[in-house]
Amino acid sequence: MPALRACRECHSVHDADTQVCPICGSSSLSEDWAGYAVIAHPEESEIVELMNVTTSGRYALKAR
Ligand SMILES: [Zn+2]
Repeated sequence: MPALRACRECHSVHDADTQVCPICGSSSLSEDWAGYAVIAHPEESEIVELMNVTTSGRYALKAR
């Protein structure tokens, strides 16, 4: 599995060469994260309420 980086601001997960989060624009991307969630249908998912996610995509549960 290739290295991925998670945004500390919105917890979205991106490719390792991502410098700026395309979701929220933050440059605070961390390789130290845990938990991987793919949100395909945010309107039907319970996890989105915990994570404050409104769009589909890949997310980390924790990003340090
Ligand atoms: Zn972000």
